Amino acid sequence: MKYCPRCGGEYFDTVAACGDCNETLINENEWEQRVAQRNTEDQEVFVKVTIADDQFEADVIRDALEKEAIPVLVRSFSDTSFDGIFIPQKGWGSILVPEEFRRKANDIIEAIQKKPDDTGNDTGDTD
Ligand SMILES: [Zn+2]
Repeated sequence: MKYCPRCGGEYFDTVAACGDCNETLINENEWEQRVAQRNTEDQEVFVKVTIADDQFEADVIRDALEKEAIPVLVRSFSDTSFDGIFIPQKGWGSILVPEEFRRKANDIIEAIQKKPDDTGNDTGDTD
């Protein structure tokens, strides 16, 4: 089998170019390498680290992460409905970071979401 590198069309080995794109076909090995490479790139994808309750919280988290030089992706649930699948979810949207930053991001987010309980727990800071 041969493949068109542009549209991914499958052709018999006797065919030299894609009938649709006029691209020179590549052999199966080369095609698989390209597919594998693309999959590797896809794995660089961001992983979800938390759900923000609202846009304000999302902004706070994003600011904090960006301050630590962590790339952040904020995806509100309403944005994702373009693909036709709308799944009602709790919260406002997802916060995503690259896998390698996940642990660091989790620590930062934990610190943000752990709301300080300042009901009479003051350590006597007299100003
Ligand atoms: Zn093609």
